[in-house]
Amino acid sequence: MSVNNVKTISIFGSTGSIGRSTLDLIAHNPEIFSVKVLTAGKNYKLLAEQAVKFKAEAVVIADERYAEALKDLLKDTSIDVSAGAAALLDVATLRVDLSVAAIVGFAGLEPVLRSIEYSKAVALANKEPLVAAGDLIMAAAAKSGCKILPTDSEHNAIFQVFEPQNREQISRLILTASGGPFRSWSKADIDAATPEQAVKHPNWSMGAKISVDSASLMNKALEVIEAHHLFAMPADKIDVVVHPQSIIHSFVEYKDGSVLAQLGVPDMRTPIAYCLAWPQRMESCGERLDVLQLSALDFEPVRDDVFPSIKWAYQALAQGQGACLTLNAANEIAVEAFLKHDISFSKIYDVVDAMLNKHAEGALSGLDDVIALDKKVRNAARVFINN
Ligand code: NDP
Repeated sequence: MSVNNVKTISIFGSTGSIGRSTLDLIAHNPEIFSVKVLTAGKNYKLLAEQAVKFKAEAVVIADERYAEALKDLLKDTSIDVSAGAAALLDVATLRVDLSVAAIVGFAGLEPVLRSIEYSKAVALANKEPLVAAGDLIMAAAAKSGCKILPTDSEHNAIFQVFEPQNREQISRLILTASGGPFRSWSKADIDAATPEQAVKHPNWSMGAKISVDSASLMNKALEVIEAHHLFAMPADKIDVVVHPQSIIHSFVEYKDGSVLAQLGVPDMRTPIAYCLAWPQRMESCGERLDVLQLSALDFEPVRDDVFPSIKWAYQALAQGQGACLTLNAANEIAVEAFLKHDISFSKIYDVVDAMLNKHAEGALSGLDDVIALDKKVRNAARVFINN
């Protein structure tokens, strides 16, 4: 089936891994999309190239230091160029059929909230805002009528087989985890792992932060909280299983014993294509799954003794939104320090554990509370690392 009408689309974080995969799909289906807005953090050169190629109406570079260089590259075009956090919020008010939330980290929270107000649908890859402020995001979507399209591969898989009319008959959501590059390593080797080893994911090609999160299984911890918000499922109905081949992207178990799953090669273009075309389907330029080439589909439990992250996600969910925010903020700071070789891999867990013990307040009443607690935890995590 083809997509009938041209969709207007804005991509927040177009220069990243998800952003580039999204534009790849659009390049293969130019007749069905019209790009309005593209944004980046620092990479002004790629942003300018993308803007020209996809005839964007407006671009924003979040880091204002690159504003002049970006303006210079686009001076012979009619593309509107702006810079800074406020500009990101401004372009999110341009009405579009679909906004793709592909910024990494909590930095995407306010653009996501603004996009929810002005877009018909938001393809949400940027999971950290949902972890930190899921109640706020889901309430904003309910208020504006914006459809949230889960883009993370596991949640996209669930979305594809989740029968809303039978939600009461769902007994469990089962998220699959590849186990990351350290799945079978000893604890001693994991503790001493380098950033170069951590970002080498066995199956997926992703940005640096999520790659480290996959190695620590923090990515799966964030995804448990993400699933709780996206599907309004209590924590005790969300399970995780390690599936090293990353072919089955997640399961939904119904009370009659049926277990529905979505399969595909580990390529983000498949779930992104689902979101781009939703509620229809479109051609994807990604590799196809050849079931005859599959030698095995293996499953194993998570090694909670070595990877404590997932256990912490359940504890945080039991405590409330403040604890989930704390888990995320502490992890963002720790991963940043690890990637700069400032701390060891095992220290990521120490930072998160210390912050959860210190700052895990329960309820948060609004955006100001969320921003204030995020700032407080980040500062405390930096102090902890420096000491
Ligand atoms: P990348 O690091 O590859 O890209 C991040 C994007 O955000 C880039 O465009 C970057 O710009 C921009 N950016 C970074 N910091 C800021 C900031 N402070 N303000 C505004 N823009 C900023 O990340 P990924 O594409 O890997 O991931 C994006 C999100 O999607 C994450 O939340 C991740 O967890 C989620 N996700 C990613 C998957 C993947 O396969 N990559 C799979 C599932 C979910 P610049 O290029 O200039 O730095």
